[in-house]
Amino acid sequence: MAAQILDGNATAKSIRLEIASEVAGLKRKPKLVVILVGDNPASKVYVGMKAKACAEVGFGSEKFALPATTSEAELLALIDKLNADNNIDGILCQLPLPKQISEHKVLERISTAKDVDCFHPMNVGYLTSGDPFVKPCTPAGVIEIMKRYGIEMKGKHAVVAGRSNIVGKPLAQLLLAEHATVTICHSRTVDLAAVCKSADILCAAIGKPEMIKGDWVKEGAVVIDVGVNRVDDTSEKGYKLVGDVAYAEAAAHASFITPVPGGIGPMTIAMLMKNTLELYKKRI
Ligand code: NDP
Repeated sequence: MAAQILDGNATAKSIRLEIASEVAGLKRKPKLVVILVGDNPASKVYVGMKAKACAEVGFGSEKFALPATTSEAELLALIDKLNADNNIDGILCQLPLPKQISEHKVLERISTAKDVDCFHPMNVGYLTSGDPFVKPCTPAGVIEIMKRYGIEMKGKHAVVAGRSNIVGKPLAQLLLAEHATVTICHSRTVDLAAVCKSADILCAAIGKPEMIKGDWVKEGAVVIDVGVNRVDDTSEKGYKLVGDVAYAEAAAHASFITPVPGGIGPMTIAMLMKNTLELYKKRI
């Protein structure tokens, strides 16, 4: 049986419409600030998509595009200024940052009350303790899309391939909170294929194009592909985007599957909007 596609574009659109209708009734509009340092082309695309989503839901937004030579002190001074501005509800610093800037120091400097990404160590701690102040956008997008398609997580074996602070670890926390039994895999996992094959819910976040093959997927499993990888092709752009999962092969075994693009990417941005609104509400 062919897998049902978990449509991230359509689901994200519904979420944006829900947010927009709530925002329409607010006197002061929530505001998200995005900081971009340097000129990483993928980061520029992501920042543009975030600004567009803000406009769609009726948020205010502002972008600070700083040169790649920006010093750590300059960036921290800007964050201090934004933290103190009462009209700003969310602050996001697009990663990666240039080498001269400590990512850790920057993420720690953003006020916990305006930490839309849930990257501040204090907010990571709240998440780990099972009482999140805010939920990280990509992992929250994974959970949200499954909920909206009525996928039960309780009691299921969820395998998360990848243990990054941005995706793998927080996703495992959120799956645990949904009462899944969670296995986390990484580059030193022995026989990744066999572990993946034991998953009822298989989440791929490894950053390796189409590494997870069809025969790694159990019959009827839910496959969530977080990966976004550029691979060269003969199109005008010279590349196409693929996930960490060999989509067509996996779809032949899965019950549900997210496509790339159009799966978790748009869900991540929708969750960013949701977080901005939630942080706004917590501050009023
Ligand atoms: P990282 O590079 O930070 O982490 C990758 C993880 O995968 C690591 O834990 C690494 O293990 C593991 N890994 C790498 N190679 C293998 C392997 N051969 N076998 C098993 N595990 C392996 O990546 P991110 O978590 O930041 O991102 C993962 C993917 O998700 C990327 O494609 C990224 O572009 C995408 N992404 C998509 C988002 C979206 O909105 N859709 C948002 C964020 C990321 P180890 O720890 O041992 O090194």
